[in-house]
Amino acid sequence: MTETCCIAEKKPVHEPHVLEVKNLHVQYRKTLALRGIDFSVKCGTRVALLGANGAGKSTLLKAIAGLIHKNAGEIMWRGGKVAKWSREFAYLPQREEVDWSFPITVRGMVEMGRYPQVGWWRKYTERDHQAVEAALASLDLLDLQDRQICELSGGQQQRAFLARAVAQEAHVLLLDEPFTGLDRTATAGLASLLEKMSEEGRLVIASHHDLSSVRQLFHQALLLAGEQIAFGTVDVVVNEQNLARVFPTNF
Ligand code: ATP
Repeated sequence: MTETCCIAEKKPVHEPHVLEVKNLHVQYRKTLALRGIDFSVKCGTRVALLGANGAGKSTLLKAIAGLIHKNAGEIMWRGGKVAKWSREFAYLPQREEVDWSFPITVRGMVEMGRYPQVGWWRKYTERDHQAVEAALASLDLLDLQDRQICELSGGQQQRAFLARAVAQEAHVLLLDEPFTGLDRTATAGLASLLEKMSEEGRLVIASHHDLSSVRQLFHQALLLAGEQIAFGTVDVVVNEQNLARVFPTNF
């Protein structure tokens, strides 16, 4: 069977790309933040990371993005080490970790998505220009392209980030609490954009705190409490028994 896979592929491919995390351990000085994390997911999937504060959700996203050192284990993409494919990964930190007052327009931010493609030596070409135009159009940002990012609402800022990832031709979106702080309209808008991103073949992995919306927003869930409590389709793993292990004080 032929499946379309991963947005940057120009033609359908037979096998979906797979992200494999094998026996991952991450330690910060004295804190063992993650131990024995083991799962694999295909592109085209939306995965929720669920867990209490300090469970290791951000640590896992940063480890997949290659931003922090892992103490043991492997992270593989397309059957090879993830570092080889770093330009295919886009990471969005939690809102409060981003300097939204940085003086840059929406277009400037989206153009930054081309830097990994352009590199130091190659000129910004017509293809780069077209990729930026297409990303702005697909995220409905053409009217806002000359605004400073500090002048955007939270939902518009999330859209600008996604446009940067689209311009980058990222296959994997790593999002730390993307829905936090958004009102109901912006939440619905972001939900449909993430649906579109995954339908186009991208893999979306996001930490998430609102248990009431997990089923609606994600296909799969990884429940964390420093270790992996459960991983699988949302319908199977998000149940009272597993949640009680992840959020012991709430159940
Ligand atoms: P939250 O939901 O509050 O964002 P989280 O599930 O994302 O939490 P992490 O931020 O990954 O959890 O933290 C996992 C553990 O690692 C926690 O015990 C935290 O205190 C610790 N930790 C995180 N970052 C660092 C760091 N830079 N240095 C030392 N310890 C850290």
